[in-house]
Amino acid sequence: MKYYSTNHIAPEATLQTAVTKGLAPDKGLYMPERINAFDPAFFDEMTGLSLQEVSYRVADKFFGEDIDRDTLKALVYDTMAFDIPLVKVTDTIWSLELFHGPTLAFKDVGARFMARLLSHFIRKEGEGEVNVLVATSGDTGSAVANGFLDVEGINVFVLYPKGLVSEIQEKQFTTLGKNITAIEIDGTFDDCQRLVKQAFLDEDITVKLTLTSANSINVARFLPQSFYYFWGVAQLKNRGVTDRIVCSVPSGNFGNITAGLFGQKMGLPVSRFIAANNRNDIFYNYLKSGSYEPKPSVATIANAMDVGDPSNFARVLDLYSSSYGSIKENITAYTYTDSQISETLRTVWQENKYLLDPHGATGYRALQEGLKDGETGFFIETAHPAKFLQTVEGIITEKFEIPDKLQEFMKGEKKVVALSSEFGDFKSFLLD
Ligand SMILES: *Cc1c(COP(=O)(O)O)cnc(C)c1O
Repeated sequence: MKYYSTNHIAPEATLQTAVTKGLAPDKGLYMPERINAFDPAFFDEMTGLSLQEVSYRVADKFFGEDIDRDTLKALVYDTMAFDIPLVKVTDTIWSLELFHGPTLAFKDVGARFMARLLSHFIRKEGEGEVNVLVATSGDTGSAVANGFLDVEGINVFVLYPKGLVSEIQEKQFTTLGKNITAIEIDGTFDDCQRLVKQAFLDEDITVKLTLTSANSINVARFLPQSFYYFWGVAQLKNRGVTDRIVCSVPSGNFGNITAGLFGQKMGLPVSRFIAANNRNDIFYNYLKSGSYEPKPSVATIANAMDVGDPSNFARVLDLYSSSYGSIKENITAYTYTDSQISETLRTVWQENKYLLDPHGATGYRALQEGLKDGETGFFIETAHPAKFLQTVEGIITEKFEIPDKLQEFMKGEKKVVALSSEFGDFKSFLLD
């Protein structure tokens, strides 16, 4: 399978190039040249398969030409070695809980897959070590660091702004050691991102070190996210819901929802999608007006969705040949303020005894407001509420239990390299 760039200038790339480069040389995002559809019989068959097997069948449609069967199967089974239960919240609204992985957020799926795929390529090519640079404002760093932990041939450098991530988030990538180095930058998230970008452009560094990035523009992080949409539908079918299924996705950079749209193109019976936004309502405004206007992001309590220029919007456009009409027909958007998010979280806790996290709360509320008669929906619960402990406890005015997995991270000892926000310092550190 070849991968083309959404800017259509760069030459087509192999899977290996698309994964190791991340972004196309013309700054576009890589897209698979074909989206292989399933035979309709598969959607009945999948209700009897495991999460790992469903995921493998989907992976085979994307990666089957490039990776031999046994390797791909092992890689997918290993990636998907945790539960993704579908939990009933109301008669028509279900939660697809993507927070049972190692760092309790949906990003575990893409990060684990990418780590294993990259390691496969390194072994196959007998290449030297690969260095993964990732700037994080919290969640991405932990998923990537844990996904790549102990993966041979790969070193990970997580850059994060000193004092600006929560204690739990920080512990998830500063206590691992081994092939993971946490770099505390005396600056902001934007400084971290600038340092990473500059490193990719610096020849002294790139002649010496093989660098790659692990954010959601990378096809190996983004495509595997389609696996769990199939799993959500399979579980709903097993509960007797067979049609008029709506998916609601708390969205920031739009990688998650775009993977769902790919699933739908493969034939997955989802009748339409909802993109739930916080106050960063770029996509909501696009659907309203037809014009895409990025803005600086604003801080909200659903902070992983604070994105002012969603990078995967380019993929959404490309998927629908830039047809505003087709996009609008299939996707509806909602936008919520912090007080609406808090109110939803509190009400669902009191009335349904279901504890949402602030991101999932946007997805739930959009379904509650958007479902039509006869439709059933599931939203992606993108992270465990304990990852946002202070916020959530403040809203429900109760204490709740932190899962053991998170407690374990809290016990570890923090080890970091502290650097200024000057590129020179980061460069000398890398070259050492
Ligand atoms: C990253 C993230 C999102 C946003 O996902 P996108 O793929 O960027 O749209 C939503 N919720 C949580 C908890 C996240 O970590």
